[in-house]
Amino acid sequence: MSTAATAPPVAADCCAHCDDHAPAATGASVRGWFTAGAVALVALGCLVGAITTAPWWSAPLFVAAALIGSVFPAQRAVQALRKRRLDINALMVVAVIGAIAIRQWEEAAMVVSLFAAAQWLEAQSLDRARKAIAGLLDLVPPEVLLREGDGDRKVGIDLVTPGALMIVRPGDRIALDGVVRSGRSDVNQAPITGESLPVEKAAGDEVFAGTINGHGALTVAVTRRRADTTLARIVHLVESAQAQRAPTQQFIDRFAAWYTPAVVALAVLVVTLPVVVLGQPFDTWLYRALVLLVVACPCALVISTPVSIVSALAGAARHGVLIKGGAHLERLASVRVIAFDKTGTMTTGRLDLDETRPAAGHSASEVLAFAAAVESQSEHPVAAAVVRAAVERGLAVRTAVDVRALPGLGAEGSVDGAAAVCGNPRLFAERGWLTPECEAIAADVSARGMSPVLVARNGVAIGVLGVSDRPRAGAAAVVADLHRQGLTRVVMITGDHEPAARAIGSHLGVDEVRAAQLPQDKVDSVAALRRDHGSVAMVGDGINDAPALAAADVGIAMGAMGSDAALETADIALMAGDLAKIPYAIRLSRATLTNIRVNVAISLALKAAFVVLAVAGVATLWMAVLADTGASALVVANAVRLRKFT
Ligand code: ADP
Ligand code: MG
Repeated sequence: MSTAATAPPVAADCCAHCDDHAPAATGASVRGWFTAGAVALVALGCLVGAITTAPWWSAPLFVAAALIGSVFPAQRAVQALRKRRLDINALMVVAVIGAIAIRQWEEAAMVVSLFAAAQWLEAQSLDRARKAIAGLLDLVPPEVLLREGDGDRKVGIDLVTPGALMIVRPGDRIALDGVVRSGRSDVNQAPITGESLPVEKAAGDEVFAGTINGHGALTVAVTRRRADTTLARIVHLVESAQAQRAPTQQFIDRFAAWYTPAVVALAVLVVTLPVVVLGQPFDTWLYRALVLLVVACPCALVISTPVSIVSALAGAARHGVLIKGGAHLERLASVRVIAFDKTGTMTTGRLDLDETRPAAGHSASEVLAFAAAVESQSEHPVAAAVVRAAVERGLAVRTAVDVRALPGLGAEGSVDGAAAVCGNPRLFAERGWLTPECEAIAADVSARGMSPVLVARNGVAIGVLGVSDRPRAGAAAVVADLHRQGLTRVVMITGDHEPAARAIGSHLGVDEVRAAQLPQDKVDSVAALRRDHGSVAMVGDGINDAPALAAADVGIAMGAMGSDAALETADIALMAGDLAKIPYAIRLSRATLTNIRVNVAISLALKAAFVVLAVAGVATLWMAVLADTGASALVVANAVRLRKFT
């Protein structure tokens, strides 16, 4: 995960959106009133101009409109000039002054009011795209029903602290994150995960703010304050992602930085050359130069990338795909290889213990209970399967102490003073504990498609457990879809034993399986894949795969909803465990790049046409502004379509 530019957005060369990254509510509405005032005065001026013939009646109205409309552009032009930048606002102010100088009152008024109106509209549309996400927070109910010793009480959600018991009635939107204490219900998590099917919830399950309770009532122990809920973090992450500048955008900003001064220079030539060299009338050529200046606004061009990206990020978030910035989206579009972790990514991560095979002189329940003592302290999916099996068989599971994870290998600890180790054949081979007997059992277990977990007490192997994992529903279809999208290689990288990994890999149709990989091997594999085939996206669970996710060009974490670490570390976080969101994200990234290219083409083509018309003297000032407004509107309309992309 390369570090994306996290610098706060810098005001770019032009246009409304740049000034509105932190819109002060009052500032924005004052601007709205000034804009409305200017537009009204222009309309009045036109009306007066139509019923009277003498310009002296309408001229003051137009001048007033020009002045009112210029207040905000002038203010921002000065700000830009202080930073030694010539921006569109300065161009507009010059155009207005010039138009007044040659007594084109109506033109002056038209130019500023159209310009102001265009900027206002752009700011509104960009703001709407941004607020699409923040709006999710407003859906959360402002109060919750808390169960307290002496009864139920309504409390504002800001006052609720972790530990409180909240009552969620059927049909309620859940207000805070928590764990179900009692009750049973189906919860629609679509607002966060984009999953269409409701999820069953019972005691012990996590529920999330912003999701919608179905038919049952739930009592939920609150786990997070309002500001820390998963939903609040998502909103925060999307907003900061939207504020980042994507590479294309940085390029366009640089482009605009020399483009605008270049057009100013051209405008100066347009005034001076014909007048000085050819003795042409000054007024005519000054007017043409002014039109050229207005045409020079790279508005549509500068706005083209941010609206596309902001819309795409908002649309993705609605599908439960959290993209941490335009840069990641752009990189995803050019990914050639996609590598998946196996356990918990390609597979459900809910393993089953299928077999317990004690070595001679030990019993099955002894081996299972001893292993479960260590695994009860481990977070690995293998561990959960072992513990569940021990509990189901009614074994008394002790608790190991000093337990530590051996990443990619197993876990070790101490049970009643005895050293206890659970792990894969690789770990046992490294430690020289692989007895011929256990090696044979492990080979038999893996030959039948299970993953062997060996168990040792005080350095002696006492048995082998066989666990198995099922591919996620639709995983094979996703692999096929990725191939169809032109990815050259779909790879499975796993810490699991080779035979078990191969069995799942060939079932899913991946091109390559890299098994028995330690976390560092996964990092090396990602580097090797990049060297051989090009840009790599790595999909993993975000916790034990974090180094490989970081090494990839794009790191994608699955099932991030319950995991803060995954949410924070990935470039792209899939809130739910739905693999189909990966082809969706790739399609979206490519559609976004195409969208940006179309927008840039629209803006440049219109500019080019109007530069020619302006020099030829066919275009008027207000036509130039209208063309620019039109281009911006077109670009915005094209970009917001990405919000609905599926
Ligand atoms: P994956 O790459 O498939 O997600 P991991 O890197 O998490 O796998 O783990 C690799 C292997 O290490 C597992 O397949 C398992 O054999 C072993 N392992 C890891 N943790 C444990 C544990 N707590 N108990 C037993 N085996 C474990
Ligand atoms: Mg894993």
